[in-house]
Amino acid sequence: MSGMLYLVPTPIGNLGDISQRCRATLESADFIAAEDTRVTLKLLNHLGIKKSLVSYYEHNKAFKGDQIVERILNGETCALVSDAGSPAISDPGEDLVKQCAAAGIVVCAVPGPCAAITALSISGQSTGRFCFEGFLSTAKKSRRSHLESLKKETRTMIFYEAPHKLLSTLEDLAEAFGEDRGISLCRELTKLHEEVVRTTLGEAVQKYAENPPKGEFVLVVAGAPEEIPEVATESDAAARVAQLMSEGLSRKDAVKQTAKELSLPKNVVYDAALALDEA
Ligand code: SAM
Repeated sequence: MSGMLYLVPTPIGNLGDISQRCRATLESADFIAAEDTRVTLKLLNHLGIKKSLVSYYEHNKAFKGDQIVERILNGETCALVSDAGSPAISDPGEDLVKQCAAAGIVVCAVPGPCAAITALSISGQSTGRFCFEGFLSTAKKSRRSHLESLKKETRTMIFYEAPHKLLSTLEDLAEAFGEDRGISLCRELTKLHEEVVRTTLGEAVQKYAENPPKGEFVLVVAGAPEEIPEVATESDAAARVAQLMSEGLSRKDAVKQTAKELSLPKNVVYDAALALDEA
């Protein structure tokens, strides 16, 4: 009988955030797959857990994934952890989950710390609809097309960024979305120097150009304002009918087409065209 894959989130700064269930899952797993075994060893020492560790990260995941799947199919249970936060979210794990799912292995995610959700909840931005955008690419072309695709995004957007790239990312965001767009910079979450700066993109650029950023950041950017469609008036409808008739359409067809184009009821368009004729 095959084992299981557990995704185990780990603290993003405060060790007190490890849950009882995460601890129990790490204790009961046959082995732990870790992004960086040295980082995970420190956590396991803190928790007093001794367990066999294998490394699973970006540059070995292709062949390590196969080995892990093989072990699980042979009956072992694996707990996957990343350096901090939720595995598979801008961290190794996505491919392993896909591989396990394809092999018919049960995957169980233990809920827990995630920098994106922690930031969103305290950002003060709208939380009803949001999208997670991860890290922007460092390659200019794909970075530009990523930002271009978000220009009309009305949902709150969440980005991860490293401190040394923060300023240039803020400059690119300000260029794409405008200097007045709201942003919450959520820094060092769950740590001693936790801070949320709620400001605009323009002011954020100025602030961090003067004081180089330190620590880890999640950027929570307000969505674009909803575009309110213009409501067509009766005189718009009458003018359009007249134009279409002058182009050769019958009154009936002109009314039908105008009603469709302006999303107005046909009888409203007909009456408006008649009133114009009479005037
Ligand atoms: N999988 C992790 C998660 O979802 O929590 C994220 C891993 S990703 C490689 C690391 C990025 O998460 C950092 O560059 C930063 O943007 C964000 N991050 C992680 N811990 C943070 C913290 N304590 N405060 C603010 N941002 C944090």
